Amino acid sequence: MSDMKILEYIWLDGYQPEPSLRSKIKVTNEKTPPDWAFDGSSTQQAEGGCSDCLLLPVQTYDGPLFADNLVMCQVQTDEHETHPSNTRAAAAKVVSDEWWFGFEQEYFFTNDKGEPLGWEEGTPRPQGDYYCGVGSGNVAGRDISEEHLETCLAAGIELTGTNAEVALGQWEYQCFGKGVKAADDLWVSRYLLYKIAEDFGVGVNIHPKPKTGDWNGSGMHANFSNEEMRTKGSEQLHNSICEKLGKVHKEGIESYGSDNDMRLTGLHETQSIDQFTYGVFDRGASIRIPIYTVEHNWNGYLEDRRPASNADPYRIISHIVSTLN
Ligand code: MG
Repeated sequence: MSDMKILEYIWLDGYQPEPSLRSKIKVTNEKTPPDWAFDGSSTQQAEGGCSDCLLLPVQTYDGPLFADNLVMCQVQTDEHETHPSNTRAAAAKVVSDEWWFGFEQEYFFTNDKGEPLGWEEGTPRPQGDYYCGVGSGNVAGRDISEEHLETCLAAGIELTGTNAEVALGQWEYQCFGKGVKAADDLWVSRYLLYKIAEDFGVGVNIHPKPKTGDWNGSGMHANFSNEEMRTKGSEQLHNSICEKLGKVHKEGIESYGSDNDMRLTGLHETQSIDQFTYGVFDRGASIRIPIYTVEHNWNGYLEDRRPASNADPYRIISHIVSTLN
């Protein structure tokens, strides 16, 4: 039998304001995934001519679909220096494994015209029946969401739940991880979502406000904690963390995804983008202190509700940890 393995290399390109995912296949008999290269002139990561960029594997996953393994990579220049598009390198410098993150990734499935699934006959009934809904006409895309969940678990990515969201065709999954791997996992979970939806002829839209009007936008609430918050917490500690993040609110927003002003309006369970508030159980705050934390004698986590669905998780965790360290 051949000892050749099929490896699916995944990386982030140089597009602004947020990168897109790219991948290509390597067939090899090497035991560990080797460094590789790609043409950066086709991904906005190099000029033409001398355009090689380097792929350095940072995380390897079981391959539940086609390949034997999925290999998440970071990008270097041909001089072996951190590429300007490489936001992971900065995150890896500051985020240790004592930091735990739970991302609540919201998104819309879309049809071949780019409209949300379930909107084929025009604008559907107003919001109300869709959140955690059941029954034809109340949900669209459940089979894709379920296949995505199973696939992520088989890859070794810890999704902790999924649900249909407030708008028709809108979904959420929750992705838990420790240290910088939490952000690697979130990127690979997005990759798998796009790829599985491909098989259904369905698109994925992670823009924070695909539909204006009285429709919820998509966010990516970022739950976070460190050792002290989990085991030596107090009301004062959690409040002081919120205060620290509030002082750099503007920098936070810059790291939390583009077009977020369309979503953070003060309506639809959000705080306005130019205000910073925090509060116990408060879904209209910038940072919510969850009931879990209060009921566990202030040992727990906080939920930063500001990040948009299109945010780069490397930048989110870099901002939170470098502010609080
Ligand atoms: Mg949600």
